[in-house]
Amino acid sequence: MRVNLTLKCTVCGEENYISKKNKRNNPERLEMNKYCPRCRKSTAHREKK
Ligand SMILES: [Zn+2]
Repeated sequence: MRVNLTLKCTVCGEENYISKKNKRNNPERLEMNKYCPRCRKSTAHREKK
């Protein structure tokens, strides 16, 4: 039940992180604050669908 996902910066749209999640534990879209090298600061990153 593990699926690959891409975490995309909501500010500039850069895809900065590739991760995996357990679909059973996290069925909804993930969103988390992570460092974006393009914005050069921490921004909200959202799971790309
Ligand atoms: Zn960014």
